[in-house]
Amino acid sequence: MPDLIERTLVLLKPDAVERGIVGNIITRFENVGLKIVGMKMVWVDKAFSKKHYSEHVAKAFYRSLEEFIISGPVVAIAVEGIHAVEVVRKMTGSTEPRQALPGTIRGDFAHHSYAYADNKGTAVKNIIHASDTSENAKKEVALWFTDKEIHTYKTVHEKHVF
Ligand code: AMP
Repeated sequence: MPDLIERTLVLLKPDAVERGIVGNIITRFENVGLKIVGMKMVWVDKAFSKKHYSEHVAKAFYRSLEEFIISGPVVAIAVEGIHAVEVVRKMTGSTEPRQALPGTIRGDFAHHSYAYADNKGTAVKNIIHASDTSENAKKEVALWFTDKEIHTYKTVHEKHVF
């Protein structure tokens, strides 16, 4: 990949799948010219959750986070584009939907809060995961996808945008 072109991991969490908003969210990434280079539906188990959320395993909210992420299938997407990590995080919005601005995915599709989730003993239902740094993006894409599941092809954007 040429410089500045990155891959990042997006997960459409069980709430996005069960609400039937997967297509709507994917369209947003396609609309800005980001390229889907890998995509699959996966129902992960506790062991895989601990690998994906390794930095959160010791935190108080981990139990409910794990319960949520293993509660149904997720759609995992490897997204490629210029500064893809930063651009996808910008489109995703703040982690807590209550704080996420309108126009972002979380701001447009949810309004859940940490306080409400804590009172109910559940995870905050925030629709999407997106890698937070280039370093984590590399690790997460490698955790969720084998090399064979990442595809190389040309889009029109590579002719007209890149
Ligand atoms: P992140 O690695 O930043 O995507 O965080 C992983 C997930 O943990 C977030 O998407 C939330 O679902 C959850 N999370 C992060 N921080 C908190 C927090 N302070 N309280 C409750 N849940 C959190």
